[in-house]
Amino acid sequence: MATRLNVLPDHLAVEERPGRGRCLILKRPAAAGEVLLAESPVCCIATRYVAMHELPAGAELTISYMPLGDPPDLRRQRLRDEYNFSCDCARCQVEAASEAATVAAEAAEVAKAMAAAGGAADAMAMEQGDEERPPFAVGDVDETYVALYVLKHVCDQCLGTMAPLITAPSSCLCNRCGTTRTEAEFLARAEAHFAGDEHEHEDDEEMM
Ligand SMILES: [Zn+2]
Ligand SMILES: [Zn+2]
Repeated sequence: MATRLNVLPDHLAVEERPGRGRCLILKRPAAAGEVLLAESPVCCIATRYVAMHELPAGAELTISYMPLGDPPDLRRQRLRDEYNFSCDCARCQVEAASEAATVAAEAAEVAKAMAAAGGAADAMAMEQGDEERPPFAVGDVDETYVALYVLKHVCDQCLGTMAPLITAPSSCLCNRCGTTRTEAEFLARAEAHFAGDEHEHEDDEEMM
């Protein structure tokens, strides 16, 4: 990120890292919500880069290329079309594995329904469909972590990115519409999500 910068603030450095190329590195720890870099170019929009969580000294700084809430297929396609690479970050790997498992489970359900309707029984597919599978994980990132991260950091009003407030890091501020969300509001949202409340956005959709 930001290797185009000529002058860096004291707390940042550019380093060559094996397998990563030129990286922007943090030279000291940073707090959640801290503005690590602010650019005000004459020609375009002023930009502030805010730490989404605490960072240790030596951490590589990365940015999201697109809105955090975009679905996996859309992200992958845009990264291929606009940035010319296929992303294999932990989140993309976890979401791809989860998606493949859902497709397999749906296929197993169809096979089961066909078998029940008098077609040939596909024992393998039936077994597969009945299994409780453990969450996929890549390092520390698993499906639950991804779901919670998106619930915490995607604005439910405008789909902007919600970064922690430096003055109250358990609350988040939307970079697009300026809405704030407290920890309690986030927990209520997470609880509704995991309770299977799929109609969270029903009202919003009806208004559109
Ligand atoms: Zn990715
Ligand atoms: Zn917003």
